[in-house]
Amino acid sequence: MNCVLRTALQEAEGLKQKYEQLSSVDELTGLNNRRYFFDEAEALVSRAVRYELPCSLMLMDVDFFKRVNDNWGHAIGDRVLCMIADVLKDEIRSGDVVARLGGEEFVILLPNTGEEGTELIAQRIQERLVRIELKDEAAANLEITACIGITRLRLEGQEGRSESELVDQLYTETDRAMYQCKREGRNRRKVFDGSENG
Ligand code: GH3
Ligand code: MG
Ligand code: MG
Repeated sequence: MNCVLRTALQEAEGLKQKYEQLSSVDELTGLNNRRYFFDEAEALVSRAVRYELPCSLMLMDVDFFKRVNDNWGHAIGDRVLCMIADVLKDEIRSGDVVARLGGEEFVILLPNTGEEGTELIAQRIQERLVRIELKDEAAANLEITACIGITRLRLEGQEGRSESELVDQLYTETDRAMYQCKREGRNRRKVFDGSENG
């Protein structure tokens, strides 16, 4: 490879990396990415604290997703991730923030919504995931399920904590509740109950 071409390729790679760092969009699904989510969540949590409004978070991890790739290949896996993202886009309401945090893990932050309302949306999402179908004979027995952890912003005893700490806490609580679902089986949802093991 000649020197000019190599330099041009290095520059292009550098620009791509810079774009990815600045971007707020997940390239595969078109959802918001992790970076955007955490910035936006801090702003929404800050608003919820100031006006004492409810605010909930749901964290969803697709069940046995490795098997989808192993059985039908990575390209089908990618298509399924896009279909899951479309379900989420369709089920959220204006003002909610949905993002792909990475891999097969998604979050939705719901301002002005308590745990019950959030659980209803989680239920609808789970009902739609099992109906996902690929118009592809080879993937006829594909069945998509997910575990969902849910929590709400609690303001009692949180005075003096920063927005970023509150967001981290919401995330940790949903993560615990989600892993509790995984431990109990799959295709479950759980509201964080304040206990150590979620
Ligand atoms: P669990 O029910 O415990 O969540 O099982 P799992 O198989 O979903 O969990 P695990 O973390 O073992 O595997 C996640 C899989 O998701 C493995 C990885 O290859 C796949 N994956 C992550 N990102 C992508 C992607 O962008 N495209 C595709 N096709 N697969 C992905
Ligand atoms: Mg995962
Ligand atoms: Mg998984």
